[in-house]
Amino acid sequence: MSTLNFDAEADVVILGSGGSGLTAAIRAHDAGANVMVLEKAARIGGTTAMSGGILWIPDNPHMASLGIKDSREDALAYLESLSLGVMDMSLATAFVDNAPDMIRWMEANTPLQFTVAVGYPDYHPENPGGKPAGGRSLDPALFSFKQLGEWADRVNGRHTDLHPQAPVVPLALLESLGRKAIDAATLADRRQDDIRGMGQALVGALLQGCLERKIAIHTNVRARELVHEDDQVIGLTAEKDGRPWTIRAHRAVILATGGFEWNPELVRNFLRGPLDGPASAPENEGDGLLMAMSLGAALGNMSEAWWMPTIRDPNDTVQGKPLYRLCLMERTLPGSLIVNRKGRRFANEAANYNDIGRAFHTFDPTSFAFENNPAWLIFDERFLRDYPVAGYGPSIRKPEGLITSGATLTELAQKLSLPADELERTVERFNSFAHTGNDPDFERGKSAYDAFNGDRTRSGAAATLGACEAAPYHAIQLVAGALGTKGGPRTDVNGRVLHVSGRTIPGLYAVGNAMAGSTGMVYGGAGGTLGPALTFGWIAGKDAAMRVPGRND
Ligand SMILES: Cc1cc2nc3c(=O)[nH]c(=O)nc-3n(C[C@H](O)[C@H](O)[C@H](O)COP(=O)(O)OP(=O)(O)OC[C@H]3O[C@@H](n4cnc5c(N)ncnc54)[C@H](O)[C@@H]3O)c2cc1C
Repeated sequence: MSTLNFDAEADVVILGSGGSGLTAAIRAHDAGANVMVLEKAARIGGTTAMSGGILWIPDNPHMASLGIKDSREDALAYLESLSLGVMDMSLATAFVDNAPDMIRWMEANTPLQFTVAVGYPDYHPENPGGKPAGGRSLDPALFSFKQLGEWADRVNGRHTDLHPQAPVVPLALLESLGRKAIDAATLADRRQDDIRGMGQALVGALLQGCLERKIAIHTNVRARELVHEDDQVIGLTAEKDGRPWTIRAHRAVILATGGFEWNPELVRNFLRGPLDGPASAPENEGDGLLMAMSLGAALGNMSEAWWMPTIRDPNDTVQGKPLYRLCLMERTLPGSLIVNRKGRRFANEAANYNDIGRAFHTFDPTSFAFENNPAWLIFDERFLRDYPVAGYGPSIRKPEGLITSGATLTELAQKLSLPADELERTVERFNSFAHTGNDPDFERGKSAYDAFNGDRTRSGAAATLGACEAAPYHAIQLVAGALGTKGGPRTDVNGRVLHVSGRTIPGLYAVGNAMAGSTGMVYGGAGGTLGPALTFGWIAGKDAAMRVPGRND
């Protein structure tokens, strides 16, 4: 036995309280383990609680009720068509095979319920096995935080240092873009019962599942080092409120610590290109990755992240770190385009964020620069009047320094240090495409996906392709950003961490963004990160609980 005297103990100790960690906790408990969750932040839920909360689950049990057909074969064909040979097919298959059962089990055993995010197409819906009419993306059902009692205030959210909540696009505006709006009375009812949706609902329901089971959850505890005996992980050391704390894990430790996007050294050393604007929980500094590396874990998918162009909010921070907002609707709505430092377009602006995010890594050998990073979203006065920008509705005052404006494109180009001739040529060419409804350069508006985040009151390509021609002109800077990284210790199909030698590291599991992602560089559709995260949390939680040290490693 270890000579260390432990301060606390559990069968299964889970590091991190995001979607993957809480799911693992519930499943491990129900498989017979005494479970403890350690969370570094003061609040529960990590990036998951800040998210849209959507899960991408192929062949899920809710699709059939809408008459949408799916199968494991379609799902695997789709993932494989996008994998470029990089995806670990055994993990992708484990995801596809277990994800529908995970949903059934969670719905039967926890307060977490789902509905189909109707009409949300896969991100490459025209690929083999893709779903242009959606069905695979599931929304968590609304959840009342009143049930959580004192825990209701201990869930992470879009908390920034200036504002308790991020600015929200007004519902009336969303309605004017063809989305279903909620009436005032329903909204008032929701406020009264503290009913929340999206990532809040997902974490709220998972947390409720943990509380019902009396699973011990400790916040402000940062796991630091794994304790091992011979090759077995038997516990860990942590910092609790700044003081050392040791925990014995009789069966296993599960790393659910999210990605490493907030650790500049790991970002510099491993990612395929710059990541200047992470949008996730700032506590995600790769702690789990470093712990696994210290025990000789094999690593995988390390160059990859869930890419997303982001916008720096110049007036706000989150826990003292820069605040980056997602750039989604504003690059898809008609009347905006994205240019690089040469003043040129470089991609279909309405493409899914993971893939346009990759285009920010194009390297120009002549200028020796990532020529598309930073880039500029260019839009006109009509766009500013009608549409949200950086999450701020049209009538809301934008933070100083967010938007650069010019009376003409030339003046705007000068302020941005872009070549004015080139910017004018680019906008003129783009406008000619907008007028004909056809973008031969980048096919914006061709895929069923492109219109989803556009103006749904317009049909066809016009939902996303519109002219930028009403002076004055405006711009906001976009940087290479991400929702989180997705490389980490490689695992087997049960979430058990693999050593560089190929054997497992007994007693150590990794899930969610802390593991080498099961879908490689693929982002299948909305929910493409949380679908696999909860699925592997569910698989690993059970396996860890059933582990008999030294017998079935
Ligand atoms: C605005 C936004 C919207 C998004 N929307 C969606 C969506 O709708 N669908 C989707 O699939 N994905 C979405 N994503 C991405 C998704 O939220 C993440 O990929 C996912 O939440 C990762 O889950 P996780 O459990 O791996 O990590 P996280 O949810 O980030 O949880 C990791 C936790 O580990 C804790 N931790 C870190 N280090 C330690 C340590 N040493 N000790 C103890 N705890 C530690 C962290 O504090 C954190 O709470 C979105 C992301 C953002 C930013």
